[in-house]
Amino acid sequence: MSRNFNDDISTPEKFVVTLELVPGRESSGRTIDTIHGISKEAYQDGRITAVSMTDNPGGNPALSPDALGRKILDIGMDVIVHFTCRDTNRMGMESRALQLAHMGMKNILALTGDYSGKGFGGRGTPVFDFDAVILTSMLNDLNMRLIKTGHSEIFVTGCAVSPFKYTEAESWVQYKKLERKIEAGSSFTITQLGYDIDKYEELLLFKKDKGLDIPPLASLYVLDKRSARPMHAGRVPGVHVTEKLYQKVMQEWQNPEDGRKHAIERTARLGAVLKGIGYRGIHLGGVHDSFETVGRIIDRMDEIEHNWQEYYDEFREDEPNRFYLYKKPAAVTGNIPSANSIKLKLTENCHYLFLRTAHDLFFDKNATFAPVYKRISSSLDKNKKSWVLKRFLEDPFKKIMLSCQGCGDCGIQHVGFLCPESGCPKHTRNGACGGSNNGYCEVDKDKLCVWVRAYKRMKKNGEMEKLTSELVPPRLWELKDTSSWVNFHLERDHQRDPGPPKKAAKAQVAKS
Ligand code: SF4
Repeated sequence: MSRNFNDDISTPEKFVVTLELVPGRESSGRTIDTIHGISKEAYQDGRITAVSMTDNPGGNPALSPDALGRKILDIGMDVIVHFTCRDTNRMGMESRALQLAHMGMKNILALTGDYSGKGFGGRGTPVFDFDAVILTSMLNDLNMRLIKTGHSEIFVTGCAVSPFKYTEAESWVQYKKLERKIEAGSSFTITQLGYDIDKYEELLLFKKDKGLDIPPLASLYVLDKRSARPMHAGRVPGVHVTEKLYQKVMQEWQNPEDGRKHAIERTARLGAVLKGIGYRGIHLGGVHDSFETVGRIIDRMDEIEHNWQEYYDEFREDEPNRFYLYKKPAAVTGNIPSANSIKLKLTENCHYLFLRTAHDLFFDKNATFAPVYKRISSSLDKNKKSWVLKRFLEDPFKKIMLSCQGCGDCGIQHVGFLCPESGCPKHTRNGACGGSNNGYCEVDKDKLCVWVRAYKRMKKNGEMEKLTSELVPPRLWELKDTSSWVNFHLERDHQRDPGPPKKAAKAQVAKS
């Protein structure tokens, strides 16, 4: 009988185990045969609900998860396809989604994606036409169309979330983004990788606090010497391996046999603890050679799950200067950022206050002079003179204030009056990607993440509730190099009336 991820994840009593496999840069050969073999054994074992296939991991080219996934689906094993926003624009993404629907691949993990890595001839263009929230929204829209045309099988879209953020700003923005992803149509969530049980619990508490009804799976990784090194060095975006854990793993792997035993035991213990505290499943990575390791982890989890509390404290990390949303573990010391300890440079605050005031005066549809601005915009547009305003006033002003790139569909008001085009290498409009590290950008490592800057500005002014409080639609490319001021007043930009809100077409429909 074929596995069905949606059925399992929709059954509250079921503890779900999924397996992440990574296609390499080959169209056939040993790696592909190994992935196929692991999937076959996983199916035969019967305890794995689905395998998930990564999409050009690390931004580097690899065999498409769509092609490989289809072969695995034929075995009877269900597949979750990772779908990132890095490599194609919205046309390519919709086309890919249609192809997946046509192929019967309905479980999608919608991700913004790592930044572009190297392909033939060097680094590729990072597209990021959408972010993960907008991608989820697009898949939801596609679901509506599928339902209308009589399809019973629709996309089951999941999202990633990183509880392993240790500054207040990053944590807050991550969780707000999770809310937007659910609003857009996410039916399940998978955490990024970490070993801090207080952070794992934080996500559950946040879900409960906000009434978010979405099953969470926790990422686990069979940590070896080779993988621990880049993770500890911060070279795997969003993943946290502390110095203490790194040293321990290095020690354990001095003898490969011991290292393997320890890695399996650690993974099983964390899995059992996560099951104990209420995670709906685990998402296992770091399995490269055979299914045997997975089988041993699940066997061991079964053995110890009844006394999981015994292992709980092993996963408490006593690192200083860390932010926790709900609780402060006893071992944590230092200056935890709080409402009163947000530090913001005077120039940064002045920049924010100036642009916010200008925005309220000139770009609020309810402002007193809004009808006047609309008439002026209309007259400029009719006489084909908008370019004069753009070239002599808008461009110089916005280039100096925002390093504006002339997208014509301004989104600064969504990002604390910072530009999502020039300020974020992934052009995110609905909250930070998961790759920021200690407040700094995954791509420009010496710059603060634009969302961290936005949070600090807004928190300082008591407005942070407004940040990522609504789903921001994608930028309209047809407006590039036109006047964003005129576009706003003539209701041509993304802020135009979107019509009645669309409901999320989620898993319950998929089950029919
Ligand atoms: S600015 Fe923030 S959201 Fe944008 S790529 Fe860098 S870390 Fe990610």
